[in-house]
Amino acid sequence: MRIADVLRTKGSAVATIAPDAPVSDLLRTLAEHNVGAIVVVGPSGVVGIVSERDVVRRLHETGAGLLTSPVSSIMTAEVFTCTPSDTVDSLTVVMTERRFRHVPVVAEGELVGIVSIGDVVKSRIGQLEQNQDQLQAYIAQG
Ligand code: AMP
Repeated sequence: MRIADVLRTKGSAVATIAPDAPVSDLLRTLAEHNVGAIVVVGPSGVVGIVSERDVVRRLHETGAGLLTSPVSSIMTAEVFTCTPSDTVDSLTVVMTERRFRHVPVVAEGELVGIVSIGDVVKSRIGQLEQNQDQLQAYIAQG
């Protein structure tokens, strides 16, 4: 199973925000889209990713003043991305080892989707169920 197959099911919508937007805008975007991470996009393309975990950590450190700080002050600037031709299995390993739950999908320099750990788990369960059905059908044939 490839990332392109996952995107065919879930679509290519990605919630984004500009690096100079205030953190209060980020909170609204997270809530409106009901997602856990937002891709930060500047004029040149993807410049960061910011998850609810970043907000919680920095809110604890700096207090409510964080709400007027720019998103760039709390984002992770070194973003791990994947391509539609990557496999779900390889992404599962990366997400588990690096301990992040969101990976933007980039093709030819364009942001074409985002995959969350939930999408990856759903896809792997679907694959396992399919394998189980095939084995049961094979056994039933005798
Ligand atoms: P998450 O598990 O996605 O909530 O993110 C946990 C931490 O990893 C946060 O500091 C995020 O900014 C960072 N992070 C999330 N996704 C990525 C990614 N694809 N590449 C690099 N860092 C990430």
